[in-house]
Amino acid sequence: MNATVTNAIAQQALVGPDVSDLVHEFSGPQWLERYQKSLMGVFGTPQRVLVRGAGALVWDADGKEYLDLLGGIAVNALGHAHPFVTSVISSQLATLGHVSNFFTSPTQVALAEKLLELVQAPGGSTVFFANSGAEANEAAFKLARAHGNSQGKPRILALEGAFHGRTMGALALTAKEAYRKPFEPLPAGVEHLPFGDLTALESALADRDVAALFLEPIQGEIGVRPLPPGYLRAARELTRKAGALLIVDEVQTGIGRTGNWLAYPEIFGAGFKPADLPDAITLAKGLGSGFPIGALVGIGAEVSGLLGAGAHGSTFGGNPVATAAALATLHTIESTGLLGAVRSLGAALREALAGTAGVAEVRGSGLLIGFDLDAPVAAALVQAGLAAGFIVNSPAPATIRLAPPLILSRAQAEHFLAALPELIASANHTAKGAAS
Ligand SMILES: *Cc1c(COP(=O)(O)O)cnc(C)c1O
Repeated sequence: MNATVTNAIAQQALVGPDVSDLVHEFSGPQWLERYQKSLMGVFGTPQRVLVRGAGALVWDADGKEYLDLLGGIAVNALGHAHPFVTSVISSQLATLGHVSNFFTSPTQVALAEKLLELVQAPGGSTVFFANSGAEANEAAFKLARAHGNSQGKPRILALEGAFHGRTMGALALTAKEAYRKPFEPLPAGVEHLPFGDLTALESALADRDVAALFLEPIQGEIGVRPLPPGYLRAARELTRKAGALLIVDEVQTGIGRTGNWLAYPEIFGAGFKPADLPDAITLAKGLGSGFPIGALVGIGAEVSGLLGAGAHGSTFGGNPVATAAALATLHTIESTGLLGAVRSLGAALREALAGTAGVAEVRGSGLLIGFDLDAPVAAALVQAGLAAGFIVNSPAPATIRLAPPLILSRAQAEHFLAALPELIASANHTAKGAAS
């Protein structure tokens, strides 16, 4: 079928029946009441019921507009309802939506090649596609076990503060006790080392019985905490010497979030060369610009060969629509020079935040930003933000995280910065009221 026919079909689909024929309009409170009765309670009460988005803006069921500075937790890289991504997804779905992994499709192959190119992976490197960050890390966990089991290396290392996902394998890699404890026993062999402590890493690797070390270049969920300077470089050297894989989780930091395709080279430091790449990289969040997709990139032929035929699988992983969404995302980031824009807007935003009264510390890179408040009033600030039309996130009691769409405009960033002193004052006021 030629492209014109494909587009005509997509067009037809777009003007036909839509979701409003399936789901009728209710107010926010009505939806929330129905939510409480029908959805499992794992997320608590949702903050709002969102019905529509465009660029960095979203609207709730009651018609209120918000500037989305969280971007679906670093997912909506190109914002909401991006026209090119929408049209590519629609036309792919109208052409071929799903095939199972007994088959492949052009978008799957093209995306794998594109990711290997962006990562600057050497020949022999390959990609496994999943549907989420946790699933990408599950695949990486199996990669680590395959390596460890073949060499008599039972231990796997991760760091305190790490977040790698909520499924059982990924949860074993995640550090937070409150997430882990209720679900033990978890897959065995994982140890968490003190964050940024090279002496601890060196001694953990001394017996050459470690299969892999999992690291995030910048820990996102704990409040945007980059590895200290020199740590990643030393970790690369130490794992190589000990015969352990270095597996880097770029689920949150990858795909332009920090103003580069990966955060690894920047956090590695000056003089980074492709030979310094880790042994595997996991990607997800921003990759499909909101369409679910995850990926494990095996760097080099040896690591890529660890998972052979029958070793792993996924029914949905790498399907034509998800891989088309990712190709559209990568193409748009490239063709619009978005990486440079993210670097400069991120730098300006961090500088302005650092100069804002009530802000104690600013961390991060590009448009992954964490800032600490003088007082533990972040939850109240999130509420004040919503009331004023801003979506931000508090990963810790005194910390606000921003991970807006990469297409955020300077004017939108300035709009938030102008409102922030009032939001901080309001949060302090609310917290004081609650305390007295
Ligand atoms: C979000 C996240 C995950 C988990 O991704 P899901 O898609 O929620 O399963 C894993 N690692 C990191 C670093 C993340 O930020």
